[in-house]
Amino acid sequence: MEHPENNEAYKGLVVNKGIIQPASVNPYLKKIHRPKKVELSVNDYVEGILKGNVTILSRAVTLVESLKPEHHTLAQEVIEKCLPHAGNSIRIGISGVPGAGKSTSIDVFGLHVLERGGKLAVLAIDPSSERSKGSILGDKTRMEQLSVHPSSFIRPSPSAGSLGGVARKTRETIILCEAAGYDKIFVETVGVGQSETAVHSMVDFFLLIQLAGTGDELQGIKRGIMEMADGIVINKADGNNIDKAKLAATQFRNALHLFPAPDSGWLPQVLTYSGFYNLGVKEIWDMVYNYVDFVKANGYFDYRRNQQSKYWMYETINEQLKDSFYNNEKIGSMLEQKEQQVLKAELTSFVAAKNLLDTYFEELRKRST
Ligand code: GDP
Repeated sequence: MEHPENNEAYKGLVVNKGIIQPASVNPYLKKIHRPKKVELSVNDYVEGILKGNVTILSRAVTLVESLKPEHHTLAQEVIEKCLPHAGNSIRIGISGVPGAGKSTSIDVFGLHVLERGGKLAVLAIDPSSERSKGSILGDKTRMEQLSVHPSSFIRPSPSAGSLGGVARKTRETIILCEAAGYDKIFVETVGVGQSETAVHSMVDFFLLIQLAGTGDELQGIKRGIMEMADGIVINKADGNNIDKAKLAATQFRNALHLFPAPDSGWLPQVLTYSGFYNLGVKEIWDMVYNYVDFVKANGYFDYRRNQQSKYWMYETINEQLKDSFYNNEKIGSMLEQKEQQVLKAELTSFVAAKNLLDTYFEELRKRST
């Protein structure tokens, strides 16, 4: 075998003398003095919000989203004080699968509704999102024109967590925004799965964005989601897609006839439009405003909001009971053992659940005495 390293001329094993590496921190850079954020009291928050101060509103929303218990308490006090000033808005849920054109549409929808004056907040519910991934609904960069509009407030979805938790935070943010004078609220969600139900439970009008193209539009869409819609809009009705969009609209109209009439007395409408070319947008908003007039006149508007408040009361109870149970130390250590016993058929599911619940209640009793 040839050994080139034995040859004196071979340089492969010579260690070069290195140079001193520069420090990774620039020593000439003066330390930037950033003053610590001043802590705000409940009254500071409430006053700021009522004056429409966007910085304070943002900080209050951060408080609502925080996982720290002390922030939670503070947030609840702020919300409670804002509550009498909330409610004066129309809340619109906007849903559609990724690529349906939600961001493009919300950008033009937003500008359109702001032409009539007032202020718009765009919020989102996306339980799968994480701040770092950059695909967050409600992200400012996706709504180029709206994000620089002085009367808009855009806030991404609270970061990943249970759907109930994420949705509750968005609902509380609605209250803060309304108290800050936002009279139009958009709540955006991805049209897949359970998050529509959550959005539906906090809005006055649920708008479903659909696409034409596959020829069999109704295949992929869940019946439950269609039943929630107060309006279905087929996007990208432009270029040579116009006929397909019209056909899809007819199919949706026919399908809607098969559902029982909604409690609101309003028959959901189906329209085609192009968010990108801003065609048919006015008709969509005429529809929304007609709906609002209609349900305000027949009492359904208030009825729906009351039902939603009731729903959220029970949702909050359920969430907190679950949290309290699963975060209980004793339960934490017992859960796996019981699960194993159930898997080995040593215990029935019901007996295991009863053992766990009995232990939980016993723990509560001990704590209260
Ligand atoms: P999102 O994922 O639902 O937020 O959808 P986007 O708004 O990001 O849109 C997805 C893609 O569809 C982008 O490439 C848009 O330019 C395009 N798009 C959105 N609206 C329209 C439209 O009205 N017509 C056409 N032709 N393309 C559109």
